[in-house]
Amino acid sequence: MQSGAQYDVVMVGAGAAGSILAVALAQIGYQVAIVESQSWPFQNRPGDKRAIALSPISWQVLQSLKLADLLNEHVQRVQKVSVTKDSGIASHHIQADSHNMPSLAYVVFLSKLMHVLAAAFEQYGVDVISESRVEKLEQQDSCVKVYVQGANNLVLSSSLLIGADGINSSVRKHCKIATLEHDYRQSAIVADLELYDYHDATAYEHFTKDGPLALLPTGPRTVNAIFTRTHDDAKKIMQYDDAAFLASLNQTFTLPFNVARVHTRKCFDLHLSMVKTRMAHRIVLFGHASHSIHPVGGQGLNLTIADIASMVEVLIDAKVRDLDIGSWAVLCDYDKRAFPQQKKIQVLTDSFIKIFAAKPWPFNALKEGGFLALRQAPVAKRFAKMMMGYQQKLPSLALGISIQEQLDFQRQKTRGAR
Ligand SMILES: Cc1cc2nc3c(=O)[nH]c(=O)nc-3n(C[C@H](O)[C@H](O)[C@H](O)COP(=O)(O)OP(=O)(O)OC[C@H]3O[C@@H](n4cnc5c(N)ncnc54)[C@H](O)[C@@H]3O)c2cc1C
Repeated sequence: MQSGAQYDVVMVGAGAAGSILAVALAQIGYQVAIVESQSWPFQNRPGDKRAIALSPISWQVLQSLKLADLLNEHVQRVQKVSVTKDSGIASHHIQADSHNMPSLAYVVFLSKLMHVLAAAFEQYGVDVISESRVEKLEQQDSCVKVYVQGANNLVLSSSLLIGADGINSSVRKHCKIATLEHDYRQSAIVADLELYDYHDATAYEHFTKDGPLALLPTGPRTVNAIFTRTHDDAKKIMQYDDAAFLASLNQTFTLPFNVARVHTRKCFDLHLSMVKTRMAHRIVLFGHASHSIHPVGGQGLNLTIADIASMVEVLIDAKVRDLDIGSWAVLCDYDKRAFPQQKKIQVLTDSFIKIFAAKPWPFNALKEGGFLALRQAPVAKRFAKMMMGYQQKLPSLALGISIQEQLDFQRQKTRGAR
């Protein structure tokens, strides 16, 4: 790659958000470069055994992007979700067949998803500039100049720059975009468990006074446990040996299966953050750079995939009509489509956390009220719908319409209008 190279889009950050979007944009026919500070491909992110529960809508989007076939063998389908609270008595079940759905969620390790995305970069011609950081950005009238520092120092030029560089986004800082923040003062501990017995494709959401716990099936005899604690408690639990760790897990929630081994454990700090705006001149923020929410409802990446599907529609339209993809009008069109859904999920997830959070009276009363409310059909339905991604007006990728089909349709429509 040469200094001075021109791209339609330069993406900063090759996490799940940046990588899925890069593949989608390359499928539309845009020239895309992605700048990543770590080595690439990073299948071996040390100890990150995070399992992601993808909603059926997200899975459909990945199918439309031709990524699901490659992921299929790594995906565990969830047929039932059991929602319980402290006492451990099953209080609400959501079943795939009662919603006439093949599965309620599709669980995949983040590392496997990244592996598949690395292969897709090669297939669709996304240029990766790894072990490099964006040193400086210059937002000019008709392009953004991107100064990249790495093995080779480069200056790239693009019509549109996407900041998908995670929670401490340097692109967001460059744009001086403020965030609304809420520190949950909790860490999430993620552990990979190997079982003696089979788990019958059930996921568990258990709400305790110390925070929620989720068990996600990841394979026929493996489960990912995610539970939240105060930072101090989490630090202590992380130091336990495996037997003590399992005992503390069982104390939180009587595990419905026998664990043979605890594999990796990793701790994540949790907080809610949302940008006040995600756009600046020729720049858009995506993924964690734009919003970070509590993992209780498993919505972070699902929300980003919904954003990607909206962005794809806008940029297909721009391609067919030969519009400047970095123009303010195009960016506003995207923002108008994506923002309402984002806000809704964030508020819903946050309200579940607050309802169930361990706070002294009068919050306990609220919590009890919240749990009882969860058992009422409309709220339970809303929780189920949120998990399944059914809150939104569906974009074309979520309806199974591939990028090529959308391009063909838009071209026909444009020809017809002439
Ligand atoms: C415990 C846990 C469980 C979760 N479970 C779920 C779930 O079940 N379902 C769900 O939908 N979501 C879930 N999420 C959320 C999901 O993991 C995130 O939404 C998603 O991984 C965020 O991806 P990202 O690409 O935005 O950010 P990141 O993964 O942080 O990627 C950012 C990338 O940018 C790079 N970078 C940073 N700075 C620079 C720079 N200056 N220059 C170049 N590159 C840079 C980084 O190296 C990194 O690769 C979970 C999150 C947690 C913590």
